[in-house]
Amino acid sequence: MVKSINPIRHKFTTLADGTDAVLLMHELVGETDGPTVGISASIHGNENTGTQAILELFRILKDTPLSGRIVLLPVANPSAFAVNQRFATHDKVDLNRQFPGSARGTYSQQLALAISDQFLRKIDIHIDLHSGTDRPTVDYVYIWNDEELSRAFGSTVLYRPVPDKQGTVFAGTSKAVTIEERGIPSVVVELGGGIVDQTPYIERTVNGVLNMLRVRGMIPGDVAPNPKQIVCNELAGIRPTQGAFSNRSAPPMAKSSGAANCWAAL
Ligand SMILES: [Zn+2]
Repeated sequence: MVKSINPIRHKFTTLADGTDAVLLMHELVGETDGPTVGISASIHGNENTGTQAILELFRILKDTPLSGRIVLLPVANPSAFAVNQRFATHDKVDLNRQFPGSARGTYSQQLALAISDQFLRKIDIHIDLHSGTDRPTVDYVYIWNDEELSRAFGSTVLYRPVPDKQGTVFAGTSKAVTIEERGIPSVVVELGGGIVDQTPYIERTVNGVLNMLRVRGMIPGDVAPNPKQIVCNELAGIRPTQGAFSNRSAPPMAKSSGAANCWAAL
């Protein structure tokens, strides 16, 4: 059981039609003390698998003994989510490159500031859920500054970014606040996507996050052992310029045996 469940609504700007732009979160307060974990999804509006996982996590966690606090941000980029696009329609810039945000900036820059102030600066651990879109992605978890927690999600492929190698190491992501400014544990998950039933991905995400919470002693239950895991330090997207890969000609999804470079068909 949790002690209380509280919606948190924060208005961060007024749109041209007079309506309020609001950041909506849900806080679950445990009955005993512990860390505050923030779980966010859909910072890219067309990556909604994580949002579905957060809904399922809410259903489970509201009836689970909890130490500490969990803040759910199921839709970090609501206007992009509404139209199933990566970027907000107002300014068409990548919200996850605008952190820590700006009060005098565009819609996405103001939204980034609201997420920084109202969410990222009020939590002790951050779990950010991304996924493929209508195109699938290889499932992997970033190793940033808390390898134990990243591994505890249970993904078989992990990615440790290395400067100057191909990958997704960009300035202005949420780690500008969580890691560079505050130094709190931060885990980014890439799981799901493609025009297929997302149910198995949602289940894996829910199980992975619950295991991370068990590792930190926030919910009861045995910690699941990690599977055999590969750590990559370089990402490469492979897309055909004509036609498409067939199963017979597609490259292997990951070069295994602890290889430093993993290749993914994105
Ligand atoms: Zn994303």
